[in-house]
Amino acid sequence: MDFDDTPDEAAWRASVRTFLSQHRAVDDPRAWQATLYEAGFVGVAWPVAAGGRGGTPMQQAIVDQEMAKLGLPALINLIGIGMCGPTVMMHGSDDQRERYLKRLLRADDLWCQLFSEPAAGSDLAGLRTRAVRDDGGWRINGQKVWTTLAHLADYGILLTRTDPAVPKHRGLTMFVVDMKAPGVTVRPLKQMNGDAHFNEVFFDDVLVPDTERLGEPGEGWRVALTTLMSERLSLGGGGTSIGPKPEAVARHVAEHIGALPADRQVLARQELGRGYVAALGARYTGYRQLSKLSRGELPGPEASAGKLSGTRSARDLTDLAVRVLGGDARVGDNIWQNMQAVLPGMAIAGGSDQVLRNIIGERVLGLPAEPRVDKGVDWR
Ligand SMILES: Cc1cc2nc3c(=O)[nH]c(=O)nc-3n(C[C@H](O)[C@H](O)[C@H](O)COP(=O)(O)OP(=O)(O)OC[C@H]3O[C@@H](n4cnc5c(N)ncnc54)[C@H](O)[C@@H]3O)c2cc1C
Repeated sequence: MDFDDTPDEAAWRASVRTFLSQHRAVDDPRAWQATLYEAGFVGVAWPVAAGGRGGTPMQQAIVDQEMAKLGLPALINLIGIGMCGPTVMMHGSDDQRERYLKRLLRADDLWCQLFSEPAAGSDLAGLRTRAVRDDGGWRINGQKVWTTLAHLADYGILLTRTDPAVPKHRGLTMFVVDMKAPGVTVRPLKQMNGDAHFNEVFFDDVLVPDTERLGEPGEGWRVALTTLMSERLSLGGGGTSIGPKPEAVARHVAEHIGALPADRQVLARQELGRGYVAALGARYTGYRQLSKLSRGELPGPEASAGKLSGTRSARDLTDLAVRVLGGDARVGDNIWQNMQAVLPGMAIAGGSDQVLRNIIGERVLGLPAEPRVDKGVDWR
């Protein structure tokens, strides 16, 4: 396997590096995304007609890698770019593409993904939020939860149940919803590190015009698969590791290990060795995805394996960093402890560890499928 850049990729990397070294991230995250967009570094692989650059996924991955190397903040509209945009691009009308996509890339509008509900996460197709035809559109009632960025979002993609009298995957319909519409209530949820990035969202008799439907009525699961596939691709791949860089943890351990009792020094070294190797394994799994992208193929189970192994090694290394720091670790100004509070969420978001193991077990290892008791049964 050859992980080196081609001459074209190397030239692109150099131009990205030059730009990023001359432009520092500004405090306003929307303005920073707009600056990167104008430079051609957001939506690099999106078609020009959708406001993108018409480049390759590999060029986008190079931008992401260079930003990660410099420790630059992730783009504010990440969910929009990674999930909502590709869904609108593939299933929206010309009018929706025209109205939404370029503004999304420039962060003029922020987007969120309204899928999970209190009783529908891993079993997403079991969701209950109802959409009923009414007044030239659809009347929405129900609740979503864990909606990242809903408190700032202008629009969301919303998965609803439009037909309860058919099996669960068949009665769903997707819409674009205006988050400022009457009847939408957003309540932030506080996380254990003190941040509040995600929310509960309530829909009380919200009217969504039929022109905001994405795909045909009852075709929502097919539309949602576009979103979920884009999500898996945007998490845990591309060689931008989840959580800490193993090199940074090794530096940290080297600086602090002398203060530990001798027996704990031995254990810390062993843990570092194990975690480091696992993190490199995850990194190279990400590179395998990139190799596929660069050949114009779509990554398959590498995306699930990369997310699973990346999250596990990130958690192990972060736990080690906190333990080595001992009593000096404090939430707030301690990056490791903050990361330690955030990473458990990564083992749930975008497919939990157990669900990813099921996918690998069934689709890679050929193990027998899980029993699916509601298969072919009407949802109601
Ligand atoms: C940081 C973060 C951001 C998120 N952002 C969004 C967002 O923007 N939009 C959105 O719609 N959702 C979002 N989510 C929600 C996320 O998609 C769900 O949390 C996830 O799908 C799991 O669903 P659940 O929380 O209902 O847990 P459940 O599905 O109820 O799972 C509970 C436990 O059971 C296990 N389990 C479930 N099914 C199986 C099975 N078949 N086999 C073995 N074990 C199983 C799970 O692994 C887990 O340990 C976010 C979550 C997090 C943590």
